Amino acid sequence: MNVLVINCGSSSLKFQLINSDSEEVLAKGLCERIGIDGSLTYQPAGGEKVKSDKAMPTHTEAIQFVIDALTDPDTGVVKSLDEIGAVGHRVVHGGEKFASSAVITEEMKKAVEECNDLAPLHNPANLIGINACEKLMPGTPMVGVFDTAFHQTMPEKAYMYGLPYAYYDKYKVRRYGFHGTSHSFVSKRVAEIVGVPYEATKTIVCHLGNGASICAVLNGKSVDTSMGLTPLEGLVMGTRSGDIDPAILEFIAKKENLDVAGLMKMLNKESGVYGLSDGVSSDFRDLCAAADEGKKPAQIALEVFGYRVAKYVGSYAAAMNGVDNIVFTAGIGENDGDMRERICGYLGYLGIEIDKEANAKRGEEVIISTPDSRVKVLVVPTNEELAIARETVALVK
Ligand code: ADP
Repeated sequence: MNVLVINCGSSSLKFQLINSDSEEVLAKGLCERIGIDGSLTYQPAGGEKVKSDKAMPTHTEAIQFVIDALTDPDTGVVKSLDEIGAVGHRVVHGGEKFASSAVITEEMKKAVEECNDLAPLHNPANLIGINACEKLMPGTPMVGVFDTAFHQTMPEKAYMYGLPYAYYDKYKVRRYGFHGTSHSFVSKRVAEIVGVPYEATKTIVCHLGNGASICAVLNGKSVDTSMGLTPLEGLVMGTRSGDIDPAILEFIAKKENLDVAGLMKMLNKESGVYGLSDGVSSDFRDLCAAADEGKKPAQIALEVFGYRVAKYVGSYAAAMNGVDNIVFTAGIGENDGDMRERICGYLGYLGIEIDKEANAKRGEEVIISTPDSRVKVLVVPTNEELAIARETVALVK
């Protein structure tokens, strides 16, 4: 079956058409600047990537252009919409309502809408994408795959904050965690690679991209993760602060005369390694270059990033009473061997030894620890689109 995977943002829409039997990507692309002017980038497998300007006042036009591209007689990859068996939608927040993916129905969409409060930038956009697809592809089964669902197995002690209980009771303020599709995909793959049943593994997944989070996966279940009610908590990220002393907010608000919106902008867009490096960049390639040139703030940013990851790994080893596998994934985790080595440098007490030659590889599945290492350390490229396609097929079959 061919599955169209859609990841819809407020002004952008990423898509992949995946053959779920061969797990091949038949075509992929991106619509940008929806509601502003609009452009479509489209690439069929083995073909050229083409970007063209298209008027996209709403997501419905965007999806129509995607369908036109996929069914184009010259550059398309299917003859008609009939060859698309299902659509899998990424949905950011499923709150406590969704512990797994769900077939999209009117009732399901209402439940997603009820989570809008928890992800006001993402969930409404996800729903717009779902509605637009339903309009243009009536009768095609659709599935929602949630970033939060994998973490619904966390115990109370991991998801409750030290705040008045009434906030949980009334507003469901708690840790939810994100990147669940990636943490699940990567931890499963680790079990296959090391040849141990998924239900008998202690794995720590380090998803280190622009957004970054860590997850403790005990016997195939998420038992703790670093992102919280929102994706702002935890690691130091590209532009997000991660954990800070909450009292800093009052202190800075007074000094800089900032309101809540100003504080949130500072924490989400002006902090992280970008802020720490004094504005050098949120991209690790630029940061590494600046650090190599001797720029102190860039060096500090890299140090803080790696140290924070190592502290979380240590705390999750404690949470699981040990760890068998540590795995790196996403842009930084897959490509930045120096950062992996820096992080593992803190973990000698776990009996970890890194094979420098294996660690020099980039963007491929590889065990980077030595055969003597007490904990296996791996790199596994994440593939959230494939994970969404698999979930979709499992539910519509
Ligand atoms: P997201 O999906 O959260 O936007 P990605 O997982 O695509 O992020 O990761 C993007 C980040 O990966 C970039 O900002 C960059 O910091 C980092 N990255 C990508 N390639 C490399 C590389 N070769 N070396 C170091 N860092 C890299």
